[in-house]
Amino acid sequence: MGFNYSMEEDNDYNDFLQSLIDNGHLEGAAEGITKKVIVEGIDSLSSKQKWTFQKNVGEYITVECTRGGCDIPWSEMYEAYDNGGMCNWCAHMDTKDD
Ligand SMILES: [Zn+2]
Repeated sequence: MGFNYSMEEDNDYNDFLQSLIDNGHLEGAAEGITKKVIVEGIDSLSSKQKWTFQKNVGEYITVECTRGGCDIPWSEMYEAYDNGGMCNWCAHMDTKDD
């Protein structure tokens, strides 16, 4: 514990995890573990489950926007994966440039 984040961010994070499940990116153990994180939080996982969770979900997390180096909020994380790693604003600007 000790990671202090707001309820709103928590919901956005859960929405991101739910998007991965809904779009069929996770399967088997990874899907089950991710569902557990949504309901019970990451602290409910064993260290082995955390490893599986981070390994599978980590593939879909963009740390930095590829266009502007911006921080990507959880609410835009799935879209960022989908559009090649850009935040909403940059994705929008990029479309305008074309
Ligand atoms: Zn950006």
